[in-house]
Amino acid sequence: MRLPQPFLAAIKAGATVGGGLIILSLAASSTIKVLQFATEAKRKSLAKPCQVCRGKGFHICKLCKGNATIQWSPLYDPIHINPCQCPTCDGHCIQRCLNCLGKESY
Ligand SMILES: [Zn+2]
Ligand SMILES: [Zn+2]
Repeated sequence: MRLPQPFLAAIKAGATVGGGLIILSLAASSTIKVLQFATEAKRKSLAKPCQVCRGKGFHICKLCKGNATIQWSPLYDPIHINPCQCPTCDGHCIQRCLNCLGKESY
């Protein structure tokens, strides 16, 4: 059994269009990837150092102000103030920068 000529032509055309669409979508997705990469590279090169930590990725602990301990009294009694290890920085005197999440130091 032989298919009529117009029918074969239609199948051929459909295959061509379908193949073209696949190639187009592949090209489009790779173009998007290239664009994303370019944008990311641009963003990185243009990014200024974090203003909060000046690009260090950490800053002096705000709670203990770099003393590693805080004056803490459970009863707010000035006579019985105990120096406690700072719960924010665990006595390290520095805090990870919340603005850049400390990424700039890595
Ligand atoms: Zn602290
Ligand atoms: Zn920062």
